[in-house]
Order: sequence, then structure tokens, then C-alpha cells
Amino acid sequence: MTFAMQRQHGDRPRAFILPLANAGEAALVEDAVIYPARTLLEVCAHFSNLPDAPRLARHPGQACAPSPGYPDFAEVKGQQRAKRALEVAAAGSHSVLLVGPPGAGKSMLASCFPGLLPPMSDAEALESAAVQSIAGSFSAARWRRRPFRSPHHTTSGVALVGGGNLPRPGEVSLAHHGVLFLDELTEFDRRVLEVLREPLETGQITISRAAHQADFPARFQLLAAMNPCPCGWLGHASGKCRCTGEVVQRYQDRISGPLLDRIDIQLPVAAVSPDQIGAQPDGEPSRDIAERVARAHALQLHRQGKPNGRLSAGEIERHCHRDRAGEQLLRNAMQHMHWSARAYHRVLKVARTIADLAAQADIESPHIAEAIQYRRMLHGG
Ligand SMILES: [Zn+2]
Repeated sequence: MTFAMQRQHGDRPRAFILPLANAGEAALVEDAVIYPARTLLEVCAHFSNLPDAPRLARHPGQACAPSPGYPDFAEVKGQQRAKRALEVAAAGSHSVLLVGPPGAGKSMLASCFPGLLPPMSDAEALESAAVQSIAGSFSAARWRRRPFRSPHHTTSGVALVGGGNLPRPGEVSLAHHGVLFLDELTEFDRRVLEVLREPLETGQITISRAAHQADFPARFQLLAAMNPCPCGWLGHASGKCRCTGEVVQRYQDRISGPLLDRIDIQLPVAAVSPDQIGAQPDGEPSRDIAERVARAHALQLHRQGKPNGRLSAGEIERHCHRDRAGEQLLRNAMQHMHWSARAYHRVLKVARTIADLAAQADIESPHIAEAIQYRRMLHGG
């Protein structure tokens, strides 16, 4: 069953009689009253005037699902820089690319990420549930949990972006208001990756087939991981990498400039050696980080009605006030690293989130300096 119900404030709660199998899903809508029925006879009896006819019983409503228990950052030793970057990404809904050798812990860091995400609004939860429901994959146990989708790189283009004779949502839509995690990013079909540019920009995807066209929401947060070169050891102290410059370039070029340009945070993740791991203190629990993320997220909704990652160029000028030193720092970096105007704006949005995590009204140069650190990868930004 699919449903699309707007909350109407001031109206009396609406009542629905629904098949038993769909009642639990519909009961998630806060101000709707649901009467599950097994047969049409039960419905007839409910409305009959006979004094002893059995009436339908009201659905008790849905309790909040228990926490799904994601892996915790406390279990990840070291990797302070990567954890901090993921905290910033969660707080501002910024897209992230982790680049590092095999075994550096990129997948582990990614699997902890959903445990940091800010709470969903009612409207987001309903939209997300509706998309899952169209695809037949809704589960009440996932209610109010931001989806975390991690399709394998062998997943077909249709399964990833949506399609089919009767168009159905793909992974990008199932990740609506949640996270799309693409591990081994360079192994995905390049044409499929290019399709991601549209939803990253607009928050929706248009599926065109000969007979018809369908739009699906696809406002996902992209989290991706890749090796720096074909062997994976480029830049490692061991000097194991034997890839030539040309081979590395060809490998990194699998991610096009325009796609990379849309990734706010690009972060190297170094391997932690076994003797280093022993010396590391225990990590901060995800719960504590998630509290800071939720506070920074609430600040953004209050100021501008959306997370910083979704600010348009005009909104950036309105909401990203920076001091003179910060502006100078940013201009220097832009010149030095040959950034596009788009890259400049992305750094400002990330700096806005860093300032929000520090509960600062204006962006200061340390915030900008940190944001610049998150954009020094691959094609040079
Ligand atoms: Zn290599």
C-alpha cells in the first residue's frame, strides 16, 4: 500500500478502514485513526445498525522502533581526523569521499556513520516511508530511521537509479532523506555515476522510458570510498605502490571532475599500523557525537529551514557571514588550488557547519582553515 497524507492542523483526526496487512504502516501517521479489517463482512458489520454487530477495533498505533544498534565510533581506534570529518558531514548533510588503502577502515567508518545522523522530521519520515512502500521494502521497524543503502558496485544501473517498464524507485530513491554509501566507487559503471549528478543537485531523479516518464525523490547524502590507485598503496610510507603517474591518473579519472566537484568533503584515510592501534585511547561513543550533530542540525533548520549542504549560492551569501581574515584565507586557497566558484561555495558551506558545531554565529578563519583541509584530493579540487 502507498499513502500520501498531509497533516492538516486544526482538522479533526481522520479515520481509515484498511486491510489488516496495511494497518501497521498507516498507523505511523500521527493524526490518523486506523481501523484494521480482515474481511468486507467485518466492514459491513461495523456500519450496520444492528445493536449486537461487532465493531472494528481501533489500531493501537505504532511505538517508536528500537535503535538498530549501528557499529559505534568508540570501537574505532585512532582515525581522529576521519571521525571529525564524518561528524561535520552528518551535521551539515555534506557528501563525503573517503580515499585510502585497503584495510584502512573506510568501510568500518562508513558503517558507523548512520549512528551519527540527526533525527528525522515528521515530513521526512513520511516521505521516506512512502518511497520504501512503493518499492515494497517498507518495514515499520525502520520508521523514523534515516535509510542507509549500500548497493554493491555490480548492482545494475536500473536497480541503482530506478527504472523498468513500470518505473520503480532505485537505490538513490530508497536512500531518500538518508545515506547512499558507494564502496569501491571507481568500480561502479561510469555512466551510472554520472547519473548521480542530477539527484545530487536537485534532490530528485527523472526516469525516462519510451512509453512514460516518472519522477522519484532522491535527496540522499552521498558517502563514498575508494582506493587512491589501482594497487591501493599510493602515498603509503611502505613505498609498496608501483603504479605509474599515468596509471594513477587514469584510475582517478574514473570519477569525473563534475561529479567530484559535487562532493563537499574529500578525505584521505591512512592505514593505522598494529603498534599504533595499541597506543590509541578509546574512541568517543557515537551517542555523544550524535548529540553535537543534532544541536548543529537544529541550528541550521532554525536559521534557514534546511541543512547547510543544501544551501544555494544566493543562500550561502545570506547565511555564511565570515570575518575578513577568513575571507582572505579562502581567496588565497582558491587561487592556490585553482578552485572553481562551485568549490569555493562548497568550502564555505562546510565552514558554516563547522561554525555551527561550535555554536558560533559567524564563520571565523579557523573554521575556514578546517574546511579547506577537507578539499585537497584527486584532481586538485
Ligand atoms: Zn598503486
